[in-house]
Amino acid sequence: MRAKRRFGQNFLAEPRYRQRIIQAVNPQPGETIIEIGPGRGALTRPLAESGARIIAIEIDRELVPDLAAGFAGFSNVRIIEADALEVDYCKLIEPALTARVVANLPYYISTPILQKLISCRRYLTEMTLMLQREVVDRLTAAPGGKQYGYLSVIAQLNCEIARLFDVPPGAFRPVPKVDSSVVRVRVLDEPRARVSDDTMFTELAQVIFAQRRKTLLNNLRAGGARLGLSGVFEMEAALARARIDPARRAETLAVSDIAALAEALVNKNREIEE
Ligand code: SAM
Repeated sequence: MRAKRRFGQNFLAEPRYRQRIIQAVNPQPGETIIEIGPGRGALTRPLAESGARIIAIEIDRELVPDLAAGFAGFSNVRIIEADALEVDYCKLIEPALTARVVANLPYYISTPILQKLISCRRYLTEMTLMLQREVVDRLTAAPGGKQYGYLSVIAQLNCEIARLFDVPPGAFRPVPKVDSSVVRVRVLDEPRARVSDDTMFTELAQVIFAQRRKTLLNNLRAGGARLGLSGVFEMEAALARARIDPARRAETLAVSDIAALAEALVNKNREIEE
């Protein structure tokens, strides 16, 4: 069966990297692990052999029958044909309360999947993910650089992120055009800064990073309506409350600055409602 580009199918072919991923995950008997995109089972098999309870979500209906047959002898493995972006993870892992995630992620949906997984952080406590190297650069970037942006701040607010190792294109079939890295995303017990409204933080991050070369004030002018801001005066007041210079660019802000600005917006909207 040919690999399908539309599903981002680059199958892991080098046993060395498979082993390194499994060592990094260190699956434990009885724990619940969700695998996104099992493909032909390169990671699913060693995960299954660990005795962990594996829930593998595969979108490609042509791969599912082979997976189901291949793991028929494992009572701890459940193969689900579904889109990982649409799944209700909380329900899926029942009766477990928490699970870890393992995935050699299809690159075309890595940002929305990351967003979804982070939003489920109360029950998905750790993710070991193979991603395009540039995506890992963005996840781990510090303020001030080109890579620092929306993905960095939504991930770093709630998670500790560690790049584990790089994987060359030759480790996959078909060979992709990009380099890959394996990353561990571990959910923090407490977020790095107080955020009382997740949606406000996420939308604010989208708005202020929309045009990287523009100042905060100009980005707020363009997208502030989404945040309940109706005029420049309100935008300047929110920035002043958060003690942030309107002439700064978003890439210079620490995660805690963005959280402070989100809180200022939440409080402003509350005051208006009261
Ligand atoms: N885990 C396998 C491996 O390491 O060889 C396959 C990895 S391949 C990069 C990505 C897998 O994710 C493919 O099997 C693909 O069909 C599947 N996939 C793509 N989009 C998906 C989605 N939205 N939901 C679930 N699986 C998806």
